[in-house]
Amino acid sequence: MNPLARLDQAHVWHPFTQMRDWVKEEPIVIVSGKGAWLEDVNGKKYLDANSSIWTNLHGHGNRKLDSALKAQLRKVAHTSALGYANEPASILAGKLVELASRLGPPDSERTATEQVLSKVFFSDDGSTAMEVALKMAYEHARRTGLSSKPRFLSLGGAYHGDTVGAVSVGHIDLFHKTYSGLLFDSDQVPAPYCYRCPYNKAEPERRDAREYRECHFECLDQVRQKLQEQKRSFGEPYGAFFVEPLMQGAAGMIAQPKGWLSAVVEMIEAEGTPWVADEVMTGFGRTGTTFACEQENVRPDFLVLAKGMTGGYLPMAATLTHQKIFEVFLGEYEEFKTFFHGHSYTGNQLGSAVALASLEILDSEGSRENRQKLQEEMTQLLAGLWALENVGDIRQVGLIAGIELVKDWRTREPFRLEEKVGIRVCKAMSNRGVLTRPVGNVVVLMPPYVTRPSELKKMVQSLRESVEEVVRTAA
Ligand SMILES: *Cc1c(COP(=O)(O)O)cnc(C)c1O
Repeated sequence: MNPLARLDQAHVWHPFTQMRDWVKEEPIVIVSGKGAWLEDVNGKKYLDANSSIWTNLHGHGNRKLDSALKAQLRKVAHTSALGYANEPASILAGKLVELASRLGPPDSERTATEQVLSKVFFSDDGSTAMEVALKMAYEHARRTGLSSKPRFLSLGGAYHGDTVGAVSVGHIDLFHKTYSGLLFDSDQVPAPYCYRCPYNKAEPERRDAREYRECHFECLDQVRQKLQEQKRSFGEPYGAFFVEPLMQGAAGMIAQPKGWLSAVVEMIEAEGTPWVADEVMTGFGRTGTTFACEQENVRPDFLVLAKGMTGGYLPMAATLTHQKIFEVFLGEYEEFKTFFHGHSYTGNQLGSAVALASLEILDSEGSRENRQKLQEEMTQLLAGLWALENVGDIRQVGLIAGIELVKDWRTREPFRLEEKVGIRVCKAMSNRGVLTRPVGNVVVLMPPYVTRPSELKKMVQSLRESVEEVVRTAA
């Protein structure tokens, strides 16, 4: 075994991993990357088909990102945001605000009281950025009298990160139940999971269930009921609503039908309840627009950004909000209304510099065109997978795709998690030189934006062959 692999197995405890299984096989040790490709310590090459867990945008070893990082290194790597401003973080905050100003209705239709997202609180990853939104929303609700004991609403299957607050508003039992004793209570409404929705009366078809669903948006009635129940039982509305716009990630790439988000947002806003758009996965071009919220013409009170923010180079995150929330924390020093929260690496200079370079690429004509082409290419290639008996649903939003594997598409019968079908398919893909991770029985394809058509083809082809191989040996 490679000495690095041996060291890893001896000492590194991997996230979301059954370590008893981990040590059974020599792990892949990645040593370098270029574009959509990664190379391991033995010189074997792999396509990075999930953009290194949904973080990478413009490929590995991107020349522009590399030089932005080097240029910043010649100045300084990190200084504290506690007490000092810095160059790249100031510019980045301005740039993020500019991008976020595109959200919501056009300027001409805005009322004077409508708030643009003009304040940026930096942190380190998706979970911490969610934690920031949660604490801000909590204090906002209390201090404005919206709610004396703020309670929160989110979606079934929601995943907002792994810190205790973020887990409390998450609803994936498999991850979250263990810690229930540590968590605060939060409510949920069903996510619009058309493929497995009890209200969808349509028989299975060889298409995305969002397209052939037969329902009356009963899921929206449930949101309406929940909002009323909250007021009836507690005498006040929810303190905040949390949602992953357009597509829930860790829930299994659950895509929302058109119009769902804007309808829910309208109900939430009518309550005076602020809402949090968790765009940790969907942000920065992943869904076809800079932010997913653009496609439903909605603007959140909190915009949470992380994964792709630095193009997948460094851990960095941001929580954007508006003046009305910000003002709740203003006062004389001795009133102690300060937002008492912060991290050592807040506003990190290297992260900010590379994020700025990444945003520049994102906004360039070349990247836009490439993303558009790649997205169309992906739609075409994925269509070929409907030929497989074990493909139940294919959900694509921009450059994110979830392929849900089932025992038989005619019955939608799921594989049991214990059968590890998703895991085994991804293992077979890895043997074919394509790396990705499943969520349960859903295989994820999320290519870097610089992926070439031939590379995308290889990703989908390996998925197809791997499903055939795994299911055949399972039968
Ligand atoms: C990954 C993810 C998070 C958590 O982000 P980390 O950087 O892993 O802490 C939160 N929300 C969504 C939607 C995510 O995909």
